[in-house]
Amino acid sequence: MRRLFSVLSLLLLSALTTACSKPPSDSVVDLSNFEHRMMGQHTRYFQEQGTVLSWQQAANTFADSPQPLGRSESIALGIGTDPVWLHLQLNNPDETHKAMRLAIKTPWLDVIDSYLVQHGQLIRHVNGGDHLAFHQRPMAHENFAFEHTFATGKTDIYVRVESLGPMAIPLELSRIDQAHQLDAGNAYRYGLLYGMLLALSLYNLLLYIITREKEFGLYSLYLAGFMINSLSYTGQLHEVITADLGVHFQDWLDCFLMITYSVAGLHFARSLLKTKSYAPRLDKIVIWTTIVFPVGILLGALANQLVFSLVLSFMLNSGFAALFVVMGIRAKQAQVDSALLFIVASVTAACCIGISTMAVAGIVPYNVYTFQAIEVGMVFEAIMLAVVLAKRFNLVQQNLVVAKRYADTDPLTNVNNRRGFQRPAEVMFNKAVDSNGDIAVLLIDIDNFKQVNDQYGHTVGDQVIQKAAHRLAQSARKTDLIARWGGEEFIMLLDNTSQKEGRNFAERIRLSLAELRCKTSKDSINFTVSIGVAGSNQRVCAEKNLDELTLADLIKCADAALYEAKNSGRNKVVELCGDCPFTEPS
Ligand code: GH3
Ligand code: MG
Ligand code: MG
Repeated sequence: MRRLFSVLSLLLLSALTTACSKPPSDSVVDLSNFEHRMMGQHTRYFQEQGTVLSWQQAANTFADSPQPLGRSESIALGIGTDPVWLHLQLNNPDETHKAMRLAIKTPWLDVIDSYLVQHGQLIRHVNGGDHLAFHQRPMAHENFAFEHTFATGKTDIYVRVESLGPMAIPLELSRIDQAHQLDAGNAYRYGLLYGMLLALSLYNLLLYIITREKEFGLYSLYLAGFMINSLSYTGQLHEVITADLGVHFQDWLDCFLMITYSVAGLHFARSLLKTKSYAPRLDKIVIWTTIVFPVGILLGALANQLVFSLVLSFMLNSGFAALFVVMGIRAKQAQVDSALLFIVASVTAACCIGISTMAVAGIVPYNVYTFQAIEVGMVFEAIMLAVVLAKRFNLVQQNLVVAKRYADTDPLTNVNNRRGFQRPAEVMFNKAVDSNGDIAVLLIDIDNFKQVNDQYGHTVGDQVIQKAAHRLAQSARKTDLIARWGGEEFIMLLDNTSQKEGRNFAERIRLSLAELRCKTSKDSINFTVSIGVAGSNQRVCAEKNLDELTLADLIKCADAALYEAKNSGRNKVVELCGDCPFTEPS
């Protein structure tokens, strides 16, 4: 299995590398006026076939049969491959010594031995790789790196690299002053990228805590997971957590961190795009992807099969990028809001992931931009997805407004119900009181409505209620408030209206309602209403001053007047007179 994967990945990588690479350049590297660059095309290499070689044996192999020069800036040989020997020859033609740094920019390589040889004599052996705890490494640096001052003449450098993870060897040579500049640039770039990711992640965590919407929580976890994963595979995390936990500690950590963010990301996308509702099969594939791969990786860990687990985690990772794009496209087809933004975000991220992978594999030039493309892509994606989330939040707000409207509306008549009446009525009433204006309440009750129901059935009854409501709504001014107060009873709050004006208005609508006709199974019927009117200017009503009067008082007065209208024969308007009965002690 392990062989199969390494052979397959080797074949793929070498085919791509051959297709995309430049012809090899001169093998000897001249150190005069040297500018930092990748050494792949100045490096010869071969892989150990079983037995571990000494540097002399490796040097003899290079001398006896010229090995090929690398064809790209970074030498890449796939996952789980045999140890590789590299040979590089530097020449310092000047009198002055040259202080240089040699670095391998992939921090996950397990064991790295560098041998510096002059005139056939070993002058220095540097051992590194992430099997060593950070403080034991040749330099306090996230990558394998060491510095050396090269004397005049030629120096051979033999490097042996052993690693179960991806055997990508971007070997970089730089002057020490340049190396410091590159480090500073890196620190700023990573600081900026992680700063943005961290801020977004924390912000969404807070949103999750406040709203309990799981999209925010998953998105926060996705971003945090990616950031920690990036910190780990770029070696930065291991400056703090050292590899004392075993040779393959970093490989295993990378592997498990890849799961965290891929799984969180996929579930975030499912939840955001509501994939289940229109693409249940795709949704199932996503769910199973987030189960099968992690379980496989875990089993690999239990059986200590790092290569198996690594291959699975790379498959999960590329599957994750591909599924994101597919989910985006399906969402677009299903006309999900913001699906296009999601596609743009995920395609960009997938391209950037591809660029970084190809840079490490030596298919495209290796530099800080191509190696960090993945982080740039993720930040871009993160910002885009934050926009999608914000738009989603906006939609939720709009839905809330709609839901509130539903909650406040009577479904039969489409006018306000009591709930919908209460708050705006209070506001209107208080405004009238504050400005010393008049306000009047009308309570309108259909007469003998029970008989309509009994005689013609509920459907006709409903129709009567609807017609009455419709006519009342038509008769009201824009500033008036109307609501269904009970079964066949309505309330109207008339702004800027005295009790007298209210009574006149009530009289008009009483006549208007009496003209309405409702169809029954045989012919059509009409109905009458009784109306109670109370105006805030009728202060005697509650023996209260206007500023002491409440809306509830006014409604009680109107109710008392309505009672009076019913008692005195129905089909009439009664307005409040001096002795409002509700004020009487009960
Ligand atoms: P009054 O003139 O004294 O108001 O007599 P009434 O028959 O109109 O009043 P009552 O309170 O005795 O009866 C009201 C009836 O209205 C009782 C109830 O079944 C009916 N009702 C309440 N809500 C609805 C509804 O939404 N649709 C229909 N069809 N009937 C309703
Ligand atoms: Mg009635
Ligand atoms: Mg009634």
